[in-house]
Amino acid sequence: MFSKIVIANRGEIALRILRACQTMGVKTVAVHSTVDRNQKHVGMADESVCIGPPSSLESYLDIPKIIAAAEVTDAEAIHPGYGFLAENAEFAECIAESGFKFIGPRAETIRLMGDKVAAIEAMKAAGVPCVPGSDGPLNDDAERNLKIARKIGYPIIVKAAAGGGGRGMRVVHTEAALNNAIMTTKTEAKAAFGDDTVYMEKYLENPRHIEIQVLSDMHGNAIHLGERDCSMQRRHQKVVEEAPAPGLTDEERAAIGEVCVAACKRIQYEGAGTFEFLYDSGCFYFIEMNTRIQVEHPVTELITGVDLIKQQLLIASGEPLKIKQDDIKLTGHAIECRVNAEDPDTFMPCPGTIDIFHAPGGPGVRVDSHVYDGYPVPPNYDSMIGKIITHGEDRETAIRRMRLALAETVVNGIKTNIPLQQRIMTDQGFVSGGKNIHYLEKRLNENK
Ligand code: ADP
Repeated sequence: MFSKIVIANRGEIALRILRACQTMGVKTVAVHSTVDRNQKHVGMADESVCIGPPSSLESYLDIPKIIAAAEVTDAEAIHPGYGFLAENAEFAECIAESGFKFIGPRAETIRLMGDKVAAIEAMKAAGVPCVPGSDGPLNDDAERNLKIARKIGYPIIVKAAAGGGGRGMRVVHTEAALNNAIMTTKTEAKAAFGDDTVYMEKYLENPRHIEIQVLSDMHGNAIHLGERDCSMQRRHQKVVEEAPAPGLTDEERAAIGEVCVAACKRIQYEGAGTFEFLYDSGCFYFIEMNTRIQVEHPVTELITGVDLIKQQLLIASGEPLKIKQDDIKLTGHAIECRVNAEDPDTFMPCPGTIDIFHAPGGPGVRVDSHVYDGYPVPPNYDSMIGKIITHGEDRETAIRRMRLALAETVVNGIKTNIPLQQRIMTDQGFVSGGKNIHYLEKRLNENK
């Protein structure tokens, strides 16, 4: 095991990684921007290095500075968390070239999965079911594009190969709108991701978002840890996640899990990863793979008892996976509510100082948050200030615990989306379970 690692992130995930390290006896180096010097994990880390001004470009996204921090502190490995450089192949490469270990898959795997067109191709070759689509990038040949779309059948969705964070997607309902939509998505993709490659796939009208968590080591061992249902979304971004997915049978879980495990072995995947699928009428359709730890990983941890960050560290240090597929038993049900510093009605970010923070507690309640009384939420980064996760013997218990936990939580001084989360937890549709990815947005529009 490593003796010291750099945590190249901030906020709740930096704290989560630090906690895993401390339980494993691994020393930590926190890197932070000037505005983040009072982050909880910075104070708790063995060492800290200020890497620049608040702007992410000059701090958390600045590769040479992060590597320099590892050099001056004699660290052995770098954990990227999620967001920032977590899925940046160049970062993984630079780390390896500088003689450190990147805690995540090999750079070539990150590169492959970062290009959604290439990822879909690789997954198809590995026998993973994908959404019917263009089987490759689109070009400027309007006739060819119309032909492809006709074959797939409308509605279709035009997506940026380099897209992420719910951006770079456009739904098209008619032939007349197709080529225009392709051109606009290309322009947007170029501006947002520096790559104008786009492709198209069938737009599934009522799917759920169900994803499979995997762990795979460098010795050819791989397991899956069941699924998460992340269908409660707004603007293609997750708001609530849960595990297991309501209504999914053991047979369906085992079948799709085995497909993902086989794909991991085929691409020699290393580390923790997530296969994201749309699930419609009993069928799974791959949309992308995330080659990092995800925001919603705690729901899987609660129902499996596996510490996913610890497993990431073990795998990166070269240990063979000790957990076998048969060891994975799903116990009860877990739900996660993301808590964001945002207006619950307009969804605009609401940075500012949190005067009072009081976390909920009690049986089956987990809080992953870095905030405290007097914590200033800077305007420079993502608005998430923490996650509340509840676990119970069944879904109903997890929901009841979540309602209580949300009611107990105090965040004074700034606006948060807690009122929205409370509405979701008492919404009849959510409570009945198994709603599709459009459900939340439809409900929000009804209430306008
Ligand atoms: P990102 O990398 O930006 O997260 P994804 O490909 O994972 O993009 O898609 C994010 C969300 O967009 C999905 O969870 C789903 O809500 C919607 N989406 C993506 N592809 C399709 C599709 N083919 N049909 C319907 N919805 C889709």
